[in-house]
Amino acid sequence: MNKEKIWLSSPHMGGNEIKYINEAFDANWIAPLGPNVNGFESDIQNYLDGDKSKGIEVAALSSGTAALHLALVLLGVERGDEVICQSMTFAASANPIAYLGATPVFVDSETDTLNICPEQLEIAIKDRIARSKKPKAIIGVHLYGMPYKIDEINKVAKKYDIPVVEDSAEALGSRYKGKNCGTFAEYSILSFNGNKIITTSGGGALVTKDVAKKQKAVFLATQARDNAPHYQHSEIGYNYRLSNISAGIGRGQMEVLDAHVEARREMFEFYVNLFQEIDGVKVFKEPNEDFYSNHWLTVIEVDEKLTRGIDREGLRNCLEAENIESRPLWKPMHMQPIFKDCPFYGTGIAEKMFEKGLCLPSGSNLTDEDRDRIKRAILDCLKK
Ligand SMILES: *Cc1c(COP(=O)(O)O)cnc(C)c1O
Repeated sequence: MNKEKIWLSSPHMGGNEIKYINEAFDANWIAPLGPNVNGFESDIQNYLDGDKSKGIEVAALSSGTAALHLALVLLGVERGDEVICQSMTFAASANPIAYLGATPVFVDSETDTLNICPEQLEIAIKDRIARSKKPKAIIGVHLYGMPYKIDEINKVAKKYDIPVVEDSAEALGSRYKGKNCGTFAEYSILSFNGNKIITTSGGGALVTKDVAKKQKAVFLATQARDNAPHYQHSEIGYNYRLSNISAGIGRGQMEVLDAHVEARREMFEFYVNLFQEIDGVKVFKEPNEDFYSNHWLTVIEVDEKLTRGIDREGLRNCLEAENIESRPLWKPMHMQPIFKDCPFYGTGIAEKMFEKGLCLPSGSNLTDEDRDRIKRAILDCLKK
């Protein structure tokens, strides 16, 4: 087989990235600070909060994971604390809890958005409080670009006075009730890893609504140096700032973000149309008009009772045989060997979706030829 690989999601440059990188070289700003870092931060700020009505502040960091780690540090999470986290997510949502010696408490998904379930969240909070372990924070994730039920989750969080950390790593360009994901919590995080909707090769950002919080994040991200001519430290710091080279890529990518969102949403429409003629496959859509997903990845659920026995793995193998990448949904954290002893609250929804769910190639750079190959492979597999 010598067909070129069709990836789930691959980097897609706009063209101007190299211009910003060259500027960094010309000015010798080859460091984790410089004009591209500042420029990238203000580009994101303008995108999320064009009219400045929300007072959004952005700290560009070396990864989304670093941003989550700093968010938890800034919320005062310490050894022995508990932090609630959506179970169905990428491990990077939960790992920073463990970095701090705290314990993740995992909560199941609901079936509309596949994200953290408001009812199970409240059950979890009540039970942890009954055990004298009030959670220090709640990490909600907009999985595959689909916003979680923001009003419902915020209502529960407010009732128990627990801050939410919004993991918007996969949801730059998504909206809820017309407002941008990444702006709904005291701390939100973005990721610019290689497969995200825009990439800086590796990178992330912490989003806050308070300039003092941003300054504190940047202070911690640059080794927590006190204001002194010598190197003096009163707090533990981290080396988490974004490189000025990477930020140059980010500035070029921000110019094409809207086009990327449009192209990913077109891939989603392509799958909606394709699966209209196929039994047993459900494409996950926005539950109602409040939700606007960037459709970073299109998600389907395969019911082998209606596909004459072809299950999720069957379809995945058909695609793989054609050199087309697809991937099961994130394996829930409560099922992971490393987190299996952590508390979990749920009813089996994430487990079922892990068994039946598949992410399909969704890149903004896929061509008509790629779509033809994908379509043929899927029809051959399911319509024989
Ligand atoms: C990618 C991702 C992260 C981590 O971002 P990095 O930049 O890769 O560290 C966190 N959460 C989710 C849901 C992600 O998809």
